[in-house]
Amino acid sequence: MGVTPTLLGLPAFRGSPASSSAEASPSAEASPSAAMPRRGPLIDTFGRVASDLRVSLTDRCNLRCTYCMPAEGLDWLSRDDLLSPIELNRLLRLAVTRLGITSIRFTGGEPLLYRGLEDIVAATARLTPRPEIALTTNGIGLAARAARLAAAGLDRVNISLDTLDPVHFAAITRRDRLNEVLDGLAAATVAGLGPVKVNAVLDPATGPRDAVDLLRFCLSHGYQLRIIEQMPLDAGHRWRREDTVSARGIEDALRAEFDLRDDSAPRGSAPARLWLVDGGPATVGIIASVSEAFCGACDRTRLTADGQVRNCLFATEETDLRRLLRRGADDTALETAWRTAMWRKAAGHGINDPGFVQPQRPMSAIGG
Ligand code: SAM
Ligand code: SF4
Repeated sequence: MGVTPTLLGLPAFRGSPASSSAEASPSAEASPSAAMPRRGPLIDTFGRVASDLRVSLTDRCNLRCTYCMPAEGLDWLSRDDLLSPIELNRLLRLAVTRLGITSIRFTGGEPLLYRGLEDIVAATARLTPRPEIALTTNGIGLAARAARLAAAGLDRVNISLDTLDPVHFAAITRRDRLNEVLDGLAAATVAGLGPVKVNAVLDPATGPRDAVDLLRFCLSHGYQLRIIEQMPLDAGHRWRREDTVSARGIEDALRAEFDLRDDSAPRGSAPARLWLVDGGPATVGIIASVSEAFCGACDRTRLTADGQVRNCLFATEETDLRRLLRRGADDTALETAWRTAMWRKAAGHGINDPGFVQPQRPMSAIGG
């Protein structure tokens, strides 16, 4: 059977694809194409507009989720490698005022380990037009900071939680800290950081049972559960499709206990396919990043903690804004470099292509 680009979730081709350089050799100096718009939205050759910026604040973490990091951790970025708060604020201002970014999500690594998080959130909230501000976190330490973050301008949080079983939790994260995550969830609700979403990646052995328990828990607490297919972004490059739980497997596990009906509301660029649970209005989202790519609707651009723009989670090239910043580049040069990076975005992540190459950076150093 022939497979069309639409079925794969790929965008229609609009211009000549840009050449790429390796992730190891950033493309800060890549020259912009004559066809690339110098103003207006952040657009790529396929006509997709990026308005959602994911900012990784640190590559460090206090958990060691097996699908993300090795037990011993990684070679962390040094202090000099990281963007300074002044550099980061400048890029955030540029993204909002010149590139049309309307939504900013802080992530990591673990963003709550970033000491100046409240300050960055407050500075972002002062930008005009004010972007929506969200946080993806493992929740550890959030209980003590949720109110301050909300006061600084944080709008909402996604908290990652793969299981409610303390033994499974310790096996998946290699840390015995489930209660701190649960405290963080409760505090997020009290602080008004809703709708509070729970992100789960399922363990192949315990995941189907964990998914059912998580959905019951989320329904009873008013959290929105999003279950994500595990992607080939682990530091050890050990991902194997057969060791993951597919979107279909997730649905089957949930259907054994719940009635799931397709939510007919338009999905837009949201990655999750929503299902009404037991007639609604509560929903569960399933994010089939691997088995049903949604690259055609992607509206994301990414900035790593060391100042690299990535046009995709799976990009194998980066654009080094930190180097430009430290060489004294003006805002127009930074803007052009960012636009050029996005203009070169590939049609899709290619996970299902025979020649797929996993990016060198793991998820924790990109920012999920
Ligand atoms: N430490 C924070 C957290 O866990 O929420 C933020 C960073 S973490 C990289 C962001 C999200 O990426 C989490 O929800 C995590 O479950 C997800 N993630 C990490 N590795 C993944 C992988 N290989 N495939 C799919 N999702 C992954
Ligand atoms: Fe840390 Fe988040 Fe990666 Fe888990 S998924 S190791 S919490 S960065």
